[in-house]
Amino acid sequence: MSNWENNVRKVVPYTPGEQPKDTGIIKLNTNENPYPPSPRVRAVMDSFDDAKMRLYPDTNSTVLVDALAEKYNVKPSQIFVGVGSDDVISMAFLTFFNSDKPVLFPDVTYSFYDVWADVYRIPYETKALDDDFRINPDDYKCENGGIIFPNPNAPTGVFENLCKIEEIIEANPASIVIVDEAYIDFGGTSCIPLIEKYDNLLVVQTFSKSRSMAGMRIGFAIGNEKLIKFMNDVKFSINSYTMNPLSQLCGAEAVYDDEYFVKTTNDIIETREYAKKKLTELGFTFPDSMSNFIFASHAEVDAGAIFEELKKRKIFVRYWNKPRINNHLRITIGTKEEMNRLFEALTEILEK
Ligand SMILES: *Cc1c(COP(=O)(O)O)cnc(C)c1O
Repeated sequence: MSNWENNVRKVVPYTPGEQPKDTGIIKLNTNENPYPPSPRVRAVMDSFDDAKMRLYPDTNSTVLVDALAEKYNVKPSQIFVGVGSDDVISMAFLTFFNSDKPVLFPDVTYSFYDVWADVYRIPYETKALDDDFRINPDDYKCENGGIIFPNPNAPTGVFENLCKIEEIIEANPASIVIVDEAYIDFGGTSCIPLIEKYDNLLVVQTFSKSRSMAGMRIGFAIGNEKLIKFMNDVKFSINSYTMNPLSQLCGAEAVYDDEYFVKTTNDIIETREYAKKKLTELGFTFPDSMSNFIFASHAEVDAGAIFEELKKRKIFVRYWNKPRINNHLRITIGTKEEMNRLFEALTEILEK
C-alpha cells in the first residue's frame, strides 16, 4: 500500500444551499435576488463580441474597478475585485491572516469562514453571540491574528451599528478587520467611510445579492491602497486572469444603473417588512432583519419539520442542524407572490 494520502491536504468543504433542478420550485434558500439584473446587463450580453473570448481578459478589471471607484467615491487603487466575494474573502484570508494567533469570528455566522481557516491552516476561535444574536465588542479585545464578521450578520440578519464596529476596529490596530457586507444594501449603513480613518479595515461586498448577479460571480473589497496592493500581490501569485471579460463589462453596467438598483432593493425591503408582519401573525419570532432574509423560529413547531413540509410543497428555505440554530429557518425574501405562496403553505403546515 502506498501512503501518499499522508501528504494530502484534507478538508471538510463548505456545503452550499441546494440548487434544485425541478421546475415550479419556490427557491428561498440561498439569498438570491428574485429580480433579474439591470436591463443594461442584458444589453451588454446582446452586443458582446464573442471574438473577445479568444484573448485573455484585463487582469485589472479596469472598467469594473473604475465604475466601483466612482460609485463609492474612492480611488481605483483602493478596490480589489474577485470572482464572487467568496474569492475575495478567501484571498483576504490568505493575505492577512498569517499569524500563529487565532482569527476571531462569531459562533453563529457565515459557515465558509471556518472552512477557509481550515484549508489554509489558520488557527481560529469563535466568539459566542449573545442571546439576541448580537456581537459583544469586548470579545474582540484580546490578542488575535485577525477578525472577520458579516454586517448584517448571516444567517441572523442582525445589523450592528457602526459605533460598535468602530470600537472593534479601533481596539485592534495590529490586526486586519474584515467586514463582510454581503447584505448591506438592504437597509444597513456601510462602514466604507471608515477606511479613511483606519488602515486595518477591509470592507467586502458582492453583486450576488443586491445586484441579482450571483451567476456572474463578482465581488469586491475596499480598503486603503496598501491593503489592496498586498491582496493583489497574492492574487497575481496564484491566478492573474480571474474575472472573465463579460463579467467585467456587465458588472460595470450594473453599477452605473443606480435607478434600477434602488428600485429593486427597495422592493425587497418592502416585501421583507410585509413578511415580518405575516410571520409574526403565524407565531414566528426572529431577530430584526436588515438583510434579504429572515431567520425565524416557531414556538410550537420544530423548524426541521417545517423545512421538510415546505420541501414537499416545492418551497425551499435553508435549515441547519447545528447547535444554537437548529430550531430556525432562514427564509430568503422572494417576490411578493412567492412570499404569499410561502405564507399559505405555512398556514397549512401549522394547522396540522
Ligand atoms: C452570499 C455571501 C457571500 C458570498 O457571495 P458571493 O456569491 O461569493 O459573492 C459572502 N458572505 C456572506 C455572508 C454571504 O451571505
